[in-house]
Amino acid sequence: MMANILVLGAGYAGMMTATTLERNNEAFTLLNNHPYHYFTTLLHEAAGGRREPMDYTVRITDLLRKSTSKFVQDEVVSIDREKRVVRCKSGDQSYDYLIVTIGWIPEYFGIPGMKENSLVLRNIDTAMEIRSHIEREFREYLKDNDERHLRIVVGGAGLTGIELVGELLDWIPKLCAQYDIPQSQVDLQNIEAMPSILPVVSEQLREVAARQLTEKGARLRTNTKLVSVDPGVVHLDGDETVEAGTIIWTGGVRANPVLTDAGFTVDRRGRAKVNEFLQSVDDSHVFIGGDCAWFEEDGRPLPPTAQFATQMGPVLANNVTSLIHGQPMQPFQGHNLGTLASLGSELGVGNMMGVPVQGVIGGLAKEVSKIKYLWQLGGVRLAVDKTAEVVHL
Ligand code: NAD
Repeated sequence: MMANILVLGAGYAGMMTATTLERNNEAFTLLNNHPYHYFTTLLHEAAGGRREPMDYTVRITDLLRKSTSKFVQDEVVSIDREKRVVRCKSGDQSYDYLIVTIGWIPEYFGIPGMKENSLVLRNIDTAMEIRSHIEREFREYLKDNDERHLRIVVGGAGLTGIELVGELLDWIPKLCAQYDIPQSQVDLQNIEAMPSILPVVSEQLREVAARQLTEKGARLRTNTKLVSVDPGVVHLDGDETVEAGTIIWTGGVRANPVLTDAGFTVDRRGRAKVNEFLQSVDDSHVFIGGDCAWFEEDGRPLPPTAQFATQMGPVLANNVTSLIHGQPMQPFQGHNLGTLASLGSELGVGNMMGVPVQGVIGGLAKEVSKIKYLWQLGGVRLAVDKTAEVVHL
C-alpha cells in the first residue's frame, strides 16, 4: 500500500516539497488555507500598490501536475502525533508521514496594544489591508485636513520594514498626485530600537540604504523603541507619543504556534528542532521545514528566510521518499547565496555570493532572484507567465 504523505502549507518550502514529490512519483496531499501560493518576499510590493495583489499569487492546482497529487483547502488547528491525525477547521486529515511547513506569525514581544492596533505584512490579505487602509487615510485627510491621516509609522527596520518603507516611498508621490495633496504633508517614520537599520547587511550598505530612503523622504528613527500602542497612537521610550493614521508592525516573526501546541521541542521563536535530515527530533514520521524548522548549522540556527525554505523543500521531499523506500536520507546543507533588500522598484542593497551590490544594480539583482525562483518552482512556463506580472521590466 502507498504511504500516506501529508504536506502542510504551500509556502516556499511546502510548494518546493510538493513539486519534488511529484518528480519522485510519490502521491501526496497538500493542505493550505488559501487556494494559491503567494510570494511572501514580494508582499511589500503588493502593499505599496506596485501591482495588483493577485499578481503575486499562483493557483496551487496549476502547479500540481499529477492526478496522484491532491490539494485540500483547509486551515490547520492542531496536530495529534499519537493518532497521526491533523485536525483542521473543516475536518481531519490522517497521515503516515507529515511535512510541516506552515510558516510564521508576527512576534509582538508582548508589547501592549500592538496586536490590536497595528497592521502587519503577513499574507496577501494583510498586504491588501495595508494598501486600502493607507488610501482610505488619504481620502479622510481631504475631508478634515487632519494631518494624522498622512502619518505612517512602520515599527522595525529589518528586511520587511525597510523593503516596505522603500515601496511606500515610491507609492506616496503617486497617491499625492491622485488626491492633490502636497508630498511634504506626508510623514513616513520608521522606528527601530537598535542603533542601525538593516542589521543583516554590512555597515557601508546600511548607510547607503539609509541615505537613499532619507533622500526620498522617510524619517529613519533608530535607537527608538516602541513600548505600547493605543488606537492611532504609538508610545516610544522616553515618553514620546506619535499619533498616526497608519501603524504597521514589522518587528519580528515566530513560527506557527501549532508546533509548540503539538509538543515538539521548540526554540524561543517557536521553531521545532530537526536533525540533519530535517526530521523532527521528537517524531521520526514528521519532517519540518521553512520558517517552522529549528535547524542548526555550525552550532547556529539558520534564519527564517525564503532562500533557505526554498532549499529545504527538495530535501524534505527526497528524505521522506528515501525513508519510505528504505534508502539512506541525505543531510540538508543551507547555501547562503546572499541577501538583497529592495528600496522601491528600482534601487536595492545587499550582497550576492559575497559581492556587495547597491543602487540600480541592487534593484536588478533582486529582480533576477524573483525570476530564478519562478523558474525553480514551475519551470520555463511559470517563469515566462509570471515574469511579466511580478517583475518590473
Ligand atoms: P527581523 O526580526 O529581522 O527585524 C525586526 C526589527 O524590528 C529588528 O531590527 C528589531 O530590532 C526591531 N524591533 C523589534 N522590536 C522593536 C521595538 N519594540 N521597537 C522598535 N524596533 C523593534 O524581522 P523581519 O524584518 O520581519 O524579518 C524576518 C525574517 O524574514 C528575517 O530572517 C529576514 O531575514 C527574513 N526576510 C528576508 C527578506 C529578504 O531576503 N529580502 C525580506 C523580508 C524578511
